[in-house]
Amino acid sequence: MTSAPEAASAPATPAAEPTGTPTAAPAAPRWHELADAVLAGRQVTAEEALAVLRAPDTQLMEVVAAASRLRFEHFGNKVKVNYLVNLKSGLCPEDCFYCSQRLNSTAGILRYTWLNTEEAVTAAKAGIAAGASRVCLVASGTGPSNREVGKVTDIIEAIKSDTPGVEVCACLGALKDGQAESLCASGADAYNHNLNTAESHYEDICTTHTYADREHTVAQAHGAGLSACSGFIAGMGETHEQLVELAFDLRAKGVDSIPVNFLLPFDGTPLEGVDTLNPRDCLRILSMVRFVAPDVEIRVAAGRERHLGNLQGIALYVANSLFLGDYLTSEGQPGAADLEMIADAGLEVLQMDTAVEGHDPQNQDDDNTAPASTRQDPVAIRTRGAGTSEPANA
Ligand code: SF4
Repeated sequence: MTSAPEAASAPATPAAEPTGTPTAAPAAPRWHELADAVLAGRQVTAEEALAVLRAPDTQLMEVVAAASRLRFEHFGNKVKVNYLVNLKSGLCPEDCFYCSQRLNSTAGILRYTWLNTEEAVTAAKAGIAAGASRVCLVASGTGPSNREVGKVTDIIEAIKSDTPGVEVCACLGALKDGQAESLCASGADAYNHNLNTAESHYEDICTTHTYADREHTVAQAHGAGLSACSGFIAGMGETHEQLVELAFDLRAKGVDSIPVNFLLPFDGTPLEGVDTLNPRDCLRILSMVRFVAPDVEIRVAAGRERHLGNLQGIALYVANSLFLGDYLTSEGQPGAADLEMIADAGLEVLQMDTAVEGHDPQNQDDDNTAPASTRQDPVAIRTRGAGTSEPANA
């Protein structure tokens, strides 16, 4: 496990409890003291990070409130909105156990080869019009050929030409020498390559490549000048210790953004039916990552609707970034509902950088007001249940 610097004056670590065990709160919860220490520049210890994951439900809102102080210190009330464009779906020769696009997956997903430039730009523009300041161009597969990188650089150049202020992140798998530099030269801002799970758990979720292979690509992208985006998927049978191990490794690698996914157990994959998370666990995981990496963009990613459930909006007090709309092979909630959730939390969508040369504000809706509501009429008159012949809403 990657070790963390020890505290000069560590607050007492709260007693570890199994997740979800309702116990009486200690007389003086120390979560805000931990936030004070982090705000003063101290790195949390692995033991403290572990304690966050094991905080009892009775302390959960205290943990979230403390973690939110770090989030607001570094990101104010802004939420970065990202939009995924799946350039190539399915048909991957790798065997990542969690992935619906893996070798021999029988998940009923869309399978298609490369979108052309026009199709990709059209998809990207839909996300930008909805408020995204970053577009993530993703392709399944072990890694791209140089010809495929050329397809992506054409797409990046077209998107940047249309909307210069938007950030573009590429996610194409393992990179070969020179490919990160080509992406950078075309205008890409970032490269995503998730570590996915802890090194000590990697053999349990994939056999066709290694954790070290993934680390290598993260380093290549970073070395070429691309912002490093790398995160993980929680809920794949890892231990709390392994989640902490991974969070410290991501921090040590200096990544700029950490997507936190919660396992979607697709039918037709080896992790079909694996369902170990509850909404409070998800908040604890996000909070732990925030304590470990207080100034890093934390993106609540795939699985948030399913696993956070009614606590989704609270997650934004810890995470400062999300994907709008649909994911690579699964549907998210409506994009308008994502924007409404941000507004309901009293937060604002981070606008793209309008100082970029060539940016045309007419191309973007710079209005920060809440989107049209996706809710029902403010007062829906009851027409079912008692006094009617319609079934009750129960
Ligand atoms: S995660 Fe990526 S490399 Fe692994 S099976 Fe899915 S598409 Fe292939």
